[in-house]
Amino acid sequence: MIVLKTKRELALMREACRISAGALKAAGEAVEPGVTTYEIDRIAYNYIKKCGAEPNFLNLYGFPATACISINNEVIHGIPSKKRVLKAGDIVSIDLGAKIDGFNGDNAATFAVGDISPEAKRLCDTTRESLYEGIKAAVAGGRIGDIGAAVSSYCEARGYGVVRQFVGHGVGAKLHEDPSVPNFGTPGRGVRLLPGMTIAIEPMINQGTERVETLADGWTVVTLDGKLSAHFEHTIAITADGPQILTVL
Ligand code: MG
Repeated sequence: MIVLKTKRELALMREACRISAGALKAAGEAVEPGVTTYEIDRIAYNYIKKCGAEPNFLNLYGFPATACISINNEVIHGIPSKKRVLKAGDIVSIDLGAKIDGFNGDNAATFAVGDISPEAKRLCDTTRESLYEGIKAAVAGGRIGDIGAAVSSYCEARGYGVVRQFVGHGVGAKLHEDPSVPNFGTPGRGVRLLPGMTIAIEPMINQGTERVETLADGWTVVTLDGKLSAHFEHTIAITADGPQILTVL
């Protein structure tokens, strides 16, 4: 069931998303060689708690941390660890959200650790840009397939694999709501986009094959060919005046 948010609910969403964006920014600023993913997770946790909010990934489906932190060939759902030390040249995807006053935010970005290769930078830039292509297509009266088609055509034209096995989603009183928001699709097909819908668009883009697998820890999703993956996400609202990004400071 797709829940359309009222003006009042949108205001609450905006606050949860603002805190989520602040936590992601704080976590991203901590990224540097020698830092562990555990330390980054603690920074995100402390930021969210200081705002009076709750980390909404923590314990969701049993996930043990505030942030999913995924390095290089890891696509999503990496578990923060004191044993995972960032090193120069890595790319690190951080995905997290906050809940406050009954509503959720969700956002992600991939950060460079020190200097990265031109190939890694191109992957990150393309993934970020594809998110904005998807957001531009999230127009009231359109269809969910418009978003996925915009993301996938942008990335596939540049030679990248668009992950199919995991998709974006509605966001609201629950972190994961209907509808599913795939990063692929056919323009004009799928659920109609209506004012009041709040969705997370989150391209997961691979340097090589789109195919992924889940490691034995039951969480970490990696590329099947071991090549790099990047991930950017915003929670947005569909309004009569066009898409609005909610996960901003
Ligand atoms: Mg999400």
